Amino acid sequence: MTSANRNPEIRKDAVNNRTVILSPARSRRPSDFKSKPKPEPEPETNPNPHPNPTCPFCAGNEHQCAPEIFRSPEYSTSDWKVRVIENLYPALSRDVEVKSDDVDYRHADVVSGEVRLGGFGFHDVVIESPVHSVHLPDLAPDGIAGVLLAYKKRIEQLCGIASISYVQVFKNHGASAGASMSHSHSQILALPVIPPTASTRLNSMKEYHNQTGKCVLCNINTKELLIDESNHFISISPFASTFPFETWIVPRYHSSHFHELGEDKAIDLGGLLKLTLQKLSIQLNDPPYNYMIHTSPLQVTSSQLPYAHWYIQIVPQLSTIGGFEMGTGCYINPVVPEDAAKILREVKIPT
Ligand code: AMP
Ligand code: ZN
Ligand code: ZN
Repeated sequence: MTSANRNPEIRKDAVNNRTVILSPARSRRPSDFKSKPKPEPEPETNPNPHPNPTCPFCAGNEHQCAPEIFRSPEYSTSDWKVRVIENLYPALSRDVEVKSDDVDYRHADVVSGEVRLGGFGFHDVVIESPVHSVHLPDLAPDGIAGVLLAYKKRIEQLCGIASISYVQVFKNHGASAGASMSHSHSQILALPVIPPTASTRLNSMKEYHNQTGKCVLCNINTKELLIDESNHFISISPFASTFPFETWIVPRYHSSHFHELGEDKAIDLGGLLKLTLQKLSIQLNDPPYNYMIHTSPLQVTSSQLPYAHWYIQIVPQLSTIGGFEMGTGCYINPVVPEDAAKILREVKIPT
């Protein structure tokens, strides 16, 4: 049956307790999904000067950046590979005073329902390469592992700050995915509250565990949804994909926190992340994309550990959301995940 002949289906994501409408009749052929061709760049004498004089993230322009937190390798000079720096325009401030009774939404004004909390937190930028034109999937698996291990190291530092409850690692690539800088980078935001998506996810994983005695992501059905696998990770199209070609990378071993990642597994994950980003780029014409590392809150209890399992969500930005999605929180996805998985399974990487 071609996807256009399939009936629409409503699916529930047991990991996030989200509902999606899969509506293949609204689709072009799934294989026709592509991001719009990019406009031809203006001819330049040197399209990729290095360092790019207008880019603070290029090696050689470190003085244009907000202060560095650390670099890798630790004692490198101009030959650094990854730098973690403060964000020049942070969403939250590390200088806001946290009062002892100010660490939660406990001080809601019960009459008005208004809740106010000091905007304490950390907002960092991870520069993934010293070279302007090198994007994350251009790096070798151990180079990507270097970026992943920089996330890990920074999260471990943030774990030591009592009022930080949750750390979100994310990457915006391309203007319509929210990126304002073209030099390859990602961001780390440490929050004094657990964001609603993380607490909903934890509750949803708990519900599945209560019903089955199992962890939902250890037990994930990969039958027609598997794209690729490595020693320690799988890439899949999630059963209730919210977006066309949404892809998850899930550890095959049970782990609640991303920052438990060791060096060997980081290289293995680097290889699978590279392959996944390359496949999405080839299939979808180098689309803008976001990835998010969905880990557990820092202070989970031991009773929560058996069902809390981290993963990476990669979302190519191929469409914009409309009133239905804003009104219901329920997304319409025209590409059935089984079709997306089959297409991505078959993408060949040129050697
Ligand atoms: P994005 O907007 O996703 O491309 O992320 C780039 C981030 O880099 C933004 O959050 C900016 O605030 C931040 N940023 C821009 N210029 C600098 C700079 N010179 N030093 C540190 N952070 C910067
Ligand atoms: Zn640059
Ligand atoms: Zn698990």
